Amino acid sequence: MSDYRIGILQGDDIGLEIVPVAVSVLQAAISKYPDVAIDWVDLPVGMPSYRRSGETLPQQTLDTLYTLDGWILGPIGHMVYPKDDPKAVNPHPIIRRNYDLVSNIRPTRSYPSIPSLHQDVDLVIVRENNEGFQPDRNMFTGKAEFMPTPDMALSLRVITRRNSGFVARTGFELARQRDNKKKVTAIHKNTVFKLGCGLFVEACAEVAGEYPDITFETRVVDTFAMNLVMHPQDFDVIVSTNMFGDILTDEAAGLVGGLGMAPGLNVGPKYAMAQATHGSAPDIAGRHIANPYAMIVSAQMLLLWLGEKKQDQAAIRAAQDIEAGITEVLSRMETVTPDLQGSASTEEMGEAVCRAILAV
Ligand code: NAD
Repeated sequence: MSDYRIGILQGDDIGLEIVPVAVSVLQAAISKYPDVAIDWVDLPVGMPSYRRSGETLPQQTLDTLYTLDGWILGPIGHMVYPKDDPKAVNPHPIIRRNYDLVSNIRPTRSYPSIPSLHQDVDLVIVRENNEGFQPDRNMFTGKAEFMPTPDMALSLRVITRRNSGFVARTGFELARQRDNKKKVTAIHKNTVFKLGCGLFVEACAEVAGEYPDITFETRVVDTFAMNLVMHPQDFDVIVSTNMFGDILTDEAAGLVGGLGMAPGLNVGPKYAMAQATHGSAPDIAGRHIANPYAMIVSAQMLLLWLGEKKQDQAAIRAAQDIEAGITEVLSRMETVTPDLQGSASTEEMGEAVCRAILAV
């Protein structure tokens, strides 16, 4: 019997709609496997938490996360948080940093039924999460941006062998598991960033030596961005520093139907957090038309990661059932949300996925 303690942090705006759907899909999937149980733990975060307690990330939430196997974080609409209140922090960089969630795994997949720029796309970008050019998280204390004069701004980029190697290892393990090209492509600009990108590529090459069954190649980020648009089918697993990866993952999502189709899992040595790539979509919040795909697949990736970590075949099969269920719903296209040219609500699409899982 495997019992997982998984947190639910709904986030803001459409998070209140798509996170409960993702939870119900996981629950439907494990209902077929009596040996798997999930102990769900609701935790306050974001504006709903701020309205209740005056904090967007209460200490109680931070303390409880240490006791969990993993958690689902809904999108965070931090752009509208009060700017003058230090208790209105943007939760997700703090969470990624606190729990050492070094690798952000973002798959991109095309479906024949979904209008997209390319078909036969099946790639994963693994992006470093906690350093690089992100000034809100790449320092032990303080921020990595400052202005010595009113007319000059400096932004510091941090690259470490430890995090670069961790991201590379995440990528090589994925490439080994995936039934694809067995290839890892490291993205860099070491022609200019000789030290920063140089160290990243060196750390990736060190890890590559441990995976002789996987092809390793490197690409300069600018030509890679063009190749990704023109020939995304050439790639399998892509590993990248933080900012390049942030940009390339949205570019990749645009190739296959947009942000509603862009899931993600943040992983570290100990914890994992399901988090879709997209934001809180305030323009459609409350209308129950948000596409739950990205959040469902993010949660599915979490269940798979937990199952593999505990070598729990039942949890792995439940995760595989979710993939089969969502593929079925997307092949029929009868119960999909308006961004996919359907007329179903978020909840109706989620229920269709649950039914398809139970029928697998
Ligand atoms: P966004 O991703 O929220 O929305 C961009 C566009 O994509 C909007 O038109 C939106 O309606 C659409 N969209 C996004 N997710 C969708 C879904 N699941 N189904 C259907 N359509 C979807 O980006 P934004 O508008 O620039 O940002 C809104 C808020 O989200 C801001 O506060 C921003 O800072 C925040 N944000 C958070 C995250 C995160 O939590 N990981 C990521 C990006 C942006």
